[in-house]
Amino acid sequence: MRLLILLVLFTTACGHKLQVSIDPQVQPYVDRFVQASGEVIQINDLIVELVPAIPEGGDDLAYCTWGDNQTPRVQIVQWFWDQTGPNTGGDSDTLRELVVFHELGHCVLFRPHRNDTFQMSIPGVTGNAPSTAQYPYSIMYYEVDQMLVNTSYYEQNRENYMQELFQRE
Ligand SMILES: [Zn+2]
Repeated sequence: MRLLILLVLFTTACGHKLQVSIDPQVQPYVDRFVQASGEVIQINDLIVELVPAIPEGGDDLAYCTWGDNQTPRVQIVQWFWDQTGPNTGGDSDTLRELVVFHELGHCVLFRPHRNDTFQMSIPGVTGNAPSTAQYPYSIMYYEVDQMLVNTSYYEQNRENYMQELFQRE
């Protein structure tokens, strides 16, 4: 009995057991992430879950927690996921992709935020509305919800964003 207890303590202190536990609703987007990497990424230690709220994340839609001796954990707020469901129309699939890819950028690629932007004209603007806007260089932009303002821009430039995300030349 004593041996067993020591063994457990040893395991906790020196590492953690790898595990993969992904909410089935989010799984297709995780698969898409692997696909977008050119199938070069293998996910062998990751938790992705839908939660009512994220205590650490303030009003964030999603949050990644990672560190030594723990399985990286992505939490996504349930109401956001529900509002971007297949029957909510428009670019909801893109919204989900953006948020999941950003969090997997942290929790799988271990990338920090990249907050630089560049000025671009907004397609299709008429009248007095601003004709340019700042667009993030990276899906790792710190406020991913700002990217959601113009998802058509993201969609048009998705390949560039994937190259930046996976640091391909
Ligand atoms: Zn982030």
